[in-house]
Amino acid sequence: MKTLRECVKEAADMGVAIGHFNISNLEGFHGVYGAAKKLNVPVVIGLSEGEEDFVGKSEAIGMIKEIREKENFPIFLNADHHYSFERVKASIDAGFDAIIFDGANLSFEENVKITKQCVDYARTVSKDKKRDILLEAEIGYIGSGSNIKESIPEGAGVLTKPDEAKKFVELTGIDMLAPSVGSIHGLIKSGKPHIDGALVAEIKKFTGIPLVLHGGSGLRDEDFTTAIKSGISIIHISTEIRLAYDEALKKSLADNPNETTPYKILQPAVDAIEKVVENRLKLFNGM
Ligand SMILES: [Zn+2]
Repeated sequence: MKTLRECVKEAADMGVAIGHFNISNLEGFHGVYGAAKKLNVPVVIGLSEGEEDFVGKSEAIGMIKEIREKENFPIFLNADHHYSFERVKASIDAGFDAIIFDGANLSFEENVKITKQCVDYARTVSKDKKRDILLEAEIGYIGSGSNIKESIPEGAGVLTKPDEAKKFVELTGIDMLAPSVGSIHGLIKSGKPHIDGALVAEIKKFTGIPLVLHGGSGLRDEDFTTAIKSGISIIHISTEIRLAYDEALKKSLADNPNETTPYKILQPAVDAIEKVVENRLKLFNGM
């Protein structure tokens, strides 16, 4: 079975990107895995701190590892936006394949300091337990929260400076970088964010490591293709899935007021997630 590092390298060589999708429950898992399996492409499941607490670390790892080993399918688990060394450590200890330390709101020095601490710990555990844990960090500010926003939140959208990114990568030794290149977390109602392809290419050239695009929900197809062409290797989608789940579930409940069987009520929500994920995966994988 290929490691996530190998899959990311392969995606870069092929000029495609791996999809990363956040889930909060088993319905989300089935929707994402169902789509990836149908298209036979690698996929990353993401759990933010809140999602991780709700799903349970051991439960999530049990699901992903079991599928990966028994089905021989390249599915990986990422601890998305973890905000402290303690939370990062707990996810590394639990068995996550990749972890994002998000210190984008801290000063450059503080971000470097904690990121380095996370990288060092990931390396130690990788060596001791013969794992290959990827540590991602963020510089520049993409905003936070996978929800619907009226407009781009104040303070968000601080673009990453290529020379600062280079310095950050050198000082921390991270495996992957989440730069701020025009996208914003969440879905923006007024005016879609736009990806700065030239900036992505510049950061890629300066850092030489895989780049991850956050805040993918709501972007135009051409923004994604530009991003991939310019050097993005993983793309995060969360809000679009939440929205699909929410709408399908509300409709299912409204359409079948007497239905009490959870798997019947919830099937349309699984299907809705699968549809969103399938469309995004096709685009990211050039299918
Ligand atoms: Zn993100």
